[in-house]
Amino acid sequence: MRFRAAVMHEIGAPLAIEQVETTPLQAGDVMVRIRAASICHTDLDVLEGELSYPLPMVLGHEAAGVVAEVGPGVTTPAVGDHVVLSWNPHCGHCFYCEQNQPILCEPYVRNRARGLHFDGSHRLALNERPLHVLMYLGAFAEYCIVPAQSAVPVPSEIALDRACLIGCGVMTGFGAATHIAPVRWGSTVVVIGCGAIGLSAIQGARLAGAGSILAVDINDHKLEVAQALGATQLCNAEREDPAAMARAISHGRGADYVFEAAGNERAFRVSVETVRPGGQVVWLGKVNVQQQVSFRWGTLMGERRIVRSSYGGARPQRDFPRLARAYLQGELKLDELITRRIGLDGINEGFADLKSGQAIRTVIEFPA
Ligand SMILES: [Zn+2]
Ligand SMILES: [Zn+2]
Repeated sequence: MRFRAAVMHEIGAPLAIEQVETTPLQAGDVMVRIRAASICHTDLDVLEGELSYPLPMVLGHEAAGVVAEVGPGVTTPAVGDHVVLSWNPHCGHCFYCEQNQPILCEPYVRNRARGLHFDGSHRLALNERPLHVLMYLGAFAEYCIVPAQSAVPVPSEIALDRACLIGCGVMTGFGAATHIAPVRWGSTVVVIGCGAIGLSAIQGARLAGAGSILAVDINDHKLEVAQALGATQLCNAEREDPAAMARAISHGRGADYVFEAAGNERAFRVSVETVRPGGQVVWLGKVNVQQQVSFRWGTLMGERRIVRSSYGGARPQRDFPRLARAYLQGELKLDELITRRIGLDGINEGFADLKSGQAIRTVIEFPA
């Protein structure tokens, strides 16, 4: 089968829309017709060479669609199911899976780094040469062949252009607040960085019953969105001191929980300066893997808990349908995260939007 995909050929160069070919489905494979895919910072990190992957590659790991075909042995999902894609399939029986840490699953981490399918082979080709995919998906394409575990059914009532957001940014931020921390009722929360992940951490904290939520960013529009999604105080870090504001709403102690979702050195420093002694910091952002990040030791003294999370403790089969239902019930807001809608041909503009810092999420829509 042939279909269109946005292919990354070299670091920093625009993606090229190409006709790619698939192999027949193998045992455990699912073919999903993509209906909506959004651009996440990790896609940009790969395009800019901040994360190193083999090329050529199809990026895209935050997407939703409809199951078009299933390979031998697949019982779930079924053809016609509406699915949100998960980028964390796992084997279920390695050292880390046995520790209940599927995000560290050994075959998962190994094959992910090589841009391969979960079984260590390719499913896509371009001009008869193997084509890699990002995080088992490669969703900037009309179709995606994924492990069955990665195609997670959600209620068909949720519009797929909203549902796609659940697959990475929303899960990561919401899960950080509700699974990793988890935020306790009445507590004081700071969220640094109001992109899709930070805004979802705000929503998770709100639904967990946080008493006050201070949103920090340098973009006033994003702070307005943060307020609409549950932030009770706003801090533009270009004009105000986040640590002083955190103390002002916590009897001078600092926040009980701080979520860092900005992905720069200053944000990591601010995260440990705004938490109270004995409080918890959850790091969600990332910088170049070679970059050093330094802290004044005094900001780490005493006692505090610092956790790094990449998928918010996701259990996609459990969490994606819950998040979809929370949206349908009006508890979780997703519409506010979408800044722009484009077609696959406009994908390079979508990347430019994200890089500019103006976009929260640009959604690529595919005709039904
Ligand atoms: Zn992502
Ligand atoms: Zn495993």
